[in-house]
Amino acid sequence: MDKLMSLLFPKRCPFCNEVLESFHLDICPECEKIVDEFYLIEEPTCKKCGKPLADEEQEFCLDCKKNPRSFEQGICLFRYGHRQNYRSMGESILRFKYSGALTYASYYIRKLIETYTQVIRQFEVDAIFPIPVHKSRYKQRGYNQAEVLAKELSKQMNIPVYSRCLLRTKKTSAQKELTKEERARNLALAFEVKQLPKDVHRVLLIDDIYTTGVTMEACTRVLLQAGIEKVYVASICSGQN
Ligand SMILES: [Zn+2]
Ligand SMILES: [Zn+2]
Repeated sequence: MDKLMSLLFPKRCPFCNEVLESFHLDICPECEKIVDEFYLIEEPTCKKCGKPLADEEQEFCLDCKKNPRSFEQGICLFRYGHRQNYRSMGESILRFKYSGALTYASYYIRKLIETYTQVIRQFEVDAIFPIPVHKSRYKQRGYNQAEVLAKELSKQMNIPVYSRCLLRTKKTSAQKELTKEERARNLALAFEVKQLPKDVHRVLLIDDIYTTGVTMEACTRVLLQAGIEKVYVASICSGQN
């Protein structure tokens, strides 16, 4: 069946987007070298959110310095890179997010685990929750990219995933006229927790792109209010500051 699927929907390289030579590969070996060298996030990183830092003297990124963080700790895998580059992990994650390149998830998650196995184990989470999208967006796109990541992580690490506990009940897109504070306040009201499973106390939230951290923060707060004890966050692509 896997073979048939791969003939119908050939797996493509998450970096160059060419069809992969073998069904067993999740990225071209030469592309993986480029990604490892230029896009994989290394120290120094923000001690709170895991974003790459430009300066080794810094302990926290600007956003974490300015804003209170309710989550315990975060990890980020790749630098977004420059949009003007012909190829970047930013382009990759946008194809994953908007153009249905869902097979990329197996590579993203393999790399996330390879890079952070120890850290993720130390989080001792008993569940993975994807950052939810509003149902109208889900209908329009046909999937929630964060849920695809969460399911893949669950499969590869054997941690249960719950996609219907944290919901996005309000849309918050057209808010360009609002200030940063107003946007954050609106976002805080956009999420709701529904029926938490009994034995879940420590949660890993996962999303595709991490920028200022406001979404992760808003989701963390509603989870803590609902009785979750500790929240950790993981993202595939991140900006830098
Ligand atoms: Zn490639
Ligand atoms: Zn930070």
